[in-house]
Amino acid sequence: MERAKKLLDIINSGLLKMRDARVDSNIHATNLINFCPRAYLLCKKHRLMFNDDSRVTTSRIITFYVGHAVEASIIASFKAEGVSKPIDPFYINITDTDKVVGTPDAAVVIDDPKPYIIELKTTGKDEMTTMIEPYVDHVCQLSLYLWMAEIRKQPFYYDVGFIVYISKIEKKEQIKVYLVHRNDAFLQTVRTQLNVVKTFSKSDALPDRICNSPIGLLAKTCTVCKLCFSEEA
Ligand code: SF4
Repeated sequence: MERAKKLLDIINSGLLKMRDARVDSNIHATNLINFCPRAYLLCKKHRLMFNDDSRVTTSRIITFYVGHAVEASIIASFKAEGVSKPIDPFYINITDTDKVVGTPDAAVVIDDPKPYIIELKTTGKDEMTTMIEPYVDHVCQLSLYLWMAEIRKQPFYYDVGFIVYISKIEKKEQIKVYLVHRNDAFLQTVRTQLNVVKTFSKSDALPDRICNSPIGLLAKTCTVCKLCFSEEA
C-alpha cells in the first residue's frame, strides 16, 4: 500500500512537471482567442509567466495527452499517404521582447501544389452526432495560424484551411472534416489588441480593464484577476 502510494505520488509529481515544462511568457496563438492585453502586461510588469495556470489539474494534463495521441493517428495517416508537409513553429515579433508563437498540427497537400494548414481536434461523448459546423474558437485558432503563415511568408494557403474532428470514442461517424475560411474580422480585433501591447510594452502603465467586475465571465477565468483589480485602472 505504501509503495502504491509512492508510485501514485511519482505519477502526480511527473504530470505536474510536464505541465510546468509547457509554461512560458510568450503569447500563444490560443491565448489570442479571448485575449486581454492588460492581463499579459500585468504578468510582464510583475515578472509572472503569462502561461502559468496552477489551476490546471493532473486530469486535465492526462486529457491533453490523450487528445494528442488521438491526433497523432491522423498525422500518421497523412504520412502513410505521403501528403504530409513539414511545418516549423510560427512566430510574430510584436516588439523586441514580445512575440506571438504557435504551431499548427499539420500541413497537407491535397490536389494543389500548395499545402493546406490543418487543425486537429478531438471530441467527447456526443459532440460528433450534434455538430453541424466547427466551433467558433477553433475557427479563430485556425485563422490565427493562416495569418501567421502569411506574415512569415510560409508556403501555405492563407485564406482557407481545414479543421478535422476526431471522436475519442467509437462512433459511426468517427471523423468530420470542415473546409474553413479565415475570419478576418476576428484577426482585425487581434491586431488592435496586439497594438495595445506594443504601445504599453515599454512602460509600467497599464491599459484599461476590459472587465467591469471580478465576477464577470472573462475575469473568472483570468489568472491575474486579483492583481488586476488591485492595480489602478
Ligand atoms: S480581470 Fe479582466 S481586465 Fe483584468 S486582467 Fe483579467 S481579463 Fe483583463
